[in-house]
Amino acid sequence: MGGKALYRIIECLTQEHDYFLVAAAALVCVVGSCLSVLIARRLIFATERRKYIQLGLGSLISGATIWSTHFIAMLAYEPGFEHGYEPVLTGVSLAVGVLGVLATNTFLAFGKHRWVFVIAGAGFGLTVSAMHYVGMAAFLLPGQINWNVTSVAASIILGTTLGAAAYHRIVYPVTRYCWMGGAFLMVLAICSMHFTGMSAITLELSPFIIVPEQVLPDGLLGLLVSAVTVIILVVGFASISLEVNLEREAIEQLEHTAHHDRLTGLPNRLELSRQTKVFDKTLADFGGMNAATFTIDLDLFKEINDLHGNAAGDEILRKIGQRLGALCGEGEFIARSGGDEFVALKLNIVTIEEAKAFAERISNQISIPVDIAGLSTIVRASIGGATTLDDGRKTSDLLQKSDLALYRAKLDPETDVCFYHPDMDEQSRERLLMIADLRQAASRGEFELVYQLQNDLVSLEPVGFEVLIRWNHPEKGRISPSEFIPLAEETGLIREIGLWVLRTACLQAATWTKPFSVAVNVAPQQLVQPAFLEHLSDILMESRLPPERLELEVTEASIIEDQASTIEVMHKIKKMGVRIAMDDFGTGYSSLATLQAFPFDKIKIDQSFIQDVDTDHQRAAIVRSTLLLGDALKIPVLAEGVEQLKELNFLRSENCTYVQGYYFGKPLSLEDIQPIVRAVDAKKVS
Ligand code: C2E
Ligand code: MG
Ligand code: MG
Repeated sequence: MGGKALYRIIECLTQEHDYFLVAAAALVCVVGSCLSVLIARRLIFATERRKYIQLGLGSLISGATIWSTHFIAMLAYEPGFEHGYEPVLTGVSLAVGVLGVLATNTFLAFGKHRWVFVIAGAGFGLTVSAMHYVGMAAFLLPGQINWNVTSVAASIILGTTLGAAAYHRIVYPVTRYCWMGGAFLMVLAICSMHFTGMSAITLELSPFIIVPEQVLPDGLLGLLVSAVTVIILVVGFASISLEVNLEREAIEQLEHTAHHDRLTGLPNRLELSRQTKVFDKTLADFGGMNAATFTIDLDLFKEINDLHGNAAGDEILRKIGQRLGALCGEGEFIARSGGDEFVALKLNIVTIEEAKAFAERISNQISIPVDIAGLSTIVRASIGGATTLDDGRKTSDLLQKSDLALYRAKLDPETDVCFYHPDMDEQSRERLLMIADLRQAASRGEFELVYQLQNDLVSLEPVGFEVLIRWNHPEKGRISPSEFIPLAEETGLIREIGLWVLRTACLQAATWTKPFSVAVNVAPQQLVQPAFLEHLSDILMESRLPPERLELEVTEASIIEDQASTIEVMHKIKKMGVRIAMDDFGTGYSSLATLQAFPFDKIKIDQSFIQDVDTDHQRAAIVRSTLLLGDALKIPVLAEGVEQLKELNFLRSENCTYVQGYYFGKPLSLEDIQPIVRAVDAKKVS
C-alpha cells in the first residue's frame, strides 16, 4: 500500500464522516469484540451442550458486531448525495457475518492444533471482508463505485492477519489480561479492514443512474442497526453474566467438596488447616482473647465396625457428624480429621470451665444412641483438650497438647474429657523412649522367658507351665509385660516379639525330659497375621516339640477383632494338634458368645475373680457359674492367680480342674525349672 493509499484512508476517515457516528461505530465494535472474545474463550473450554450454545451465541454476537460496525460507519459516511441500501443484500451481509463467524468459530471450538486456530482467526478476517463487500454491494448511489484492487487486497490481508493474531491471543493467553489484547486485535481487524476497504473506492456520479425508491434510507437502516446493536449487547451481557454465575457456582461447589468430608459433611483436614491459620491470626490480632482446641476419638469404633459391619460404622459417623456440625455456634469449629477422629476449635473462652462445657456438649451429642438395624447403639468418645489459658498461643501447639491429653483420656475408661497437663509431656517422652528401646530389645537379647507352674487340682502335681515374657532393660531393670506389651501391641512390635516367645518357648520345652505342656500367650495381632500358621508349623518342625504339648492362650479381644477369620485360623491351629485356651475369662464382654463360637481346650478364669473367692459371694458365684459352663461344654477350667490355701480349697470343693498362681510359687527362670522338667533324668542318674 503506497503513501497515496494511506492518505486515502486518512482522508476517508477525516473528511467524509460524521464523527459522532464514527465514535458510535467504534464503541459498538469495542464492546462487541470484548463480548465476542470472552465468549470465544469460554467456547474453547465448554463441554457438550454448553459448547453448542456458546458457538451459536458467539457467532450471533461477533457476526452482528461486524455488521453493525460496518453499517454505523456507513451511516457516518457522508457522501454528499442521495443514497440508500438494497434490503436483500443488506440482510445477506448480516447472514454472511453470522454464518462466517459460525464457520470459523467451529474450528475454534473443536480444533486441536495451533494452525487450526490461526486458520480460524484468518477465517474471521475473511468473514469481516466478505461481510464488508456484500454490504458495499447493497450501497446504492446515483453513479457507480470504482474499486482500487490493491487497496481491496490490502484490506483483506489486514483483516485476515489481524484476525489470525486476535484468535491466537485468545487461544494462547500468557496472562489473564490477554483477552483484552485479543479484543484489541479484533477491533483492529474490523476497523482497519473497513476503512482500508472504504479507501479503495472512488465514486463516479452519473445523472443516468437513479437510486430506486424501494430501498432502505439512512434513517431506517439506523433503526435496524440500533436494534441489532441492542440485541448484541443484551444477549452478550446476559450470556456472559449467566456463564460467570454458573462458573462461580461450579467453583464454589468444587471448593466445598475439596474442603468437606463426603460422609459426614463436616469440614475436612484441608479446611482444618485453613481454620488453624485463621485461628492463629485471630489470636495474634487480639492478644487478650483465649481459645481452646480439642481432639476427639470415638471409643471402640473399630469393634463396632467389626461387629456390625462397615455400613453401620459409616451410618454412625454420618449421624455423629451431622450432630457435631449442628452443634457449632459462633467462633466454634469442628472438622473430621480422620477415620473416627474429629478436631474442634473454640474461640473466645474466658475460663477453663467454658472449654469443659463445650467438650461436654460434644461428648453428649456423640453419646445420643444411634439406631443401627433396629438396635440402639451408644457410642462414647474420648476428648483431649488444651487452652491458651495455660498451654501456649499457637494453635498447632495446642492441637499437639490436646492429642496428648486425648491419649490420657483413652487410657482411662472412666474419663471422657481430659485437659492437657505439663506432666503429660514427660510421660509421652518416656513412652517414646520406651518404644525406641523396645524396638532394639529383641536383637540385644534383653528378653527372657519365665515359667509359671500349672497344677492339677486333685493331685496338686505340676502339669505344665505358662510362659511369661520379661524385659531386662539395661537401665530400668526388669520391666513387667503389663507395661510394655500394650506398647508392643500399639506399635505392632508384638508380632515380632510374640514370634520370638513362641520359638524360644518351643525350643526350650522340647529339651525337657518330662513332657510338660507349655502355654504361650498369643496377642490378637499375631493371630490375624497372614503368615502366623506358617510360622507356627515351622517352629514346631524346627523345635520337634510334639504339637499336643503346646497350648496357645488367646483372649477375647482376638475373637472380637475379626471373628470369622480368627476362628478359621484357630480351627487350623487345632487341626495341627495344638491346643487353644481362653485366657482371662470373665474380663471381656461377650464371654458366653465367644465360648459358643469356638471349641476351646481350656478356660482360664481371670485372677481378679479368684482373689478372696472363698469369702466374696459375688466372685464365688461367677467362678461357680464358669465351672458349670465348663462342665456343660466339656471344657476343663483353670483358675489363675491362686495365692492362698483357702482359695485353693474353695476351688477344689467346686471341682475346678487346674490351678495356677503364687501359691505354688512365683514364675521361675529356665534354670530354676530344670529340676522339675528334668526330674525323670535326675531319678535315672541317682
Ligand atoms: P496372663 O496371660 O493372664 O498371665 C498371668 C499373669 O498373672 C502373669 O503376670 C503372672 O505373673 C500373674 N500371676 C500368676 N499368678 C499370680 C498370682 O497368684 N497372683 C498375682 N498377683 N499374679 C499372678 P505377668 O507375667 O506380669 O503378665 C501379665 C500379662 O502380660 C499376661 O497376663 C499376658 O496377658 C501378658 N503377657 C505376658 N507374657 C506375654 C507374652 O509372651 N506374649 C503376650 N502376648 N503377652 C504376654
Ligand atoms: Mg496368659
Ligand atoms: Mg490370664
